Amino acid sequence: MKLHLILSLALLAGVAHAGDTVWPFQPLPYAYDALEPHIDAETMEIHYDRHHRAYYNNLLSAAEDHPALKQLPLETIMGQISAWPTFVRNNAGGHYNHQLFWEIMSPDGGGEPDGMLAIAINEAFGSFEELQEQFNAAAASVFGSGWAWLSVADDGTLFVSSTPNQDNPLMDVVEKRGAPILGLDVWEHAYYLKYQNQRGSYIEAFWEVINWPEVAARYRDSIK
Ligand code: MN
Repeated sequence: MKLHLILSLALLAGVAHAGDTVWPFQPLPYAYDALEPHIDAETMEIHYDRHHRAYYNNLLSAAEDHPALKQLPLETIMGQISAWPTFVRNNAGGHYNHQLFWEIMSPDGGGEPDGMLAIAINEAFGSFEELQEQFNAAAASVFGSGWAWLSVADDGTLFVSSTPNQDNPLMDVVEKRGAPILGLDVWEHAYYLKYQNQRGSYIEAFWEVINWPEVAARYRDSIK
């Protein structure tokens, strides 16, 4: 009971400070069971409401120690992440990455992109199938926890990469930097309840829920 009270107060404190920041905790854009059978409802709920929320609350607590963080857009924080403590790197990255992840999936997802994004994919990879192969290989080869990405380089070309932990291609510490437009969380917490050790099956299922119109919108924004 006592512990519950303390936790509730801590949560309230977090909520009270959230309004002072420029990076709100967005609602999940669909129901927990909306991506079934590809991503199960229990995983979705735990992932969004516990894992993601924990990164967010940690970022809020970091901002209490470093108030300048509160008014910096997440993209700006990523671009100067080497100047911040590891705690900020892990939790600002965690918040940014998960927000992107929820938005680039949809119950109406799957299929293939069209328009400018399809052309850019063909230019960079030769075909959509080759993008899938490279992306799947990047996701499968992450040792331990991390992410696979499709990003836009400064010159406008698309590339696939992976990052450890909660790093992402916006960070000034990664090998190849760019603007991420698609990301896949390959931490075990993202798939273990349904897929256990079968990360490859989870990676395959991801293609069935990708929100290509959202990915295309991010592509257009990043080449402006
Ligand atoms: Mn995650």
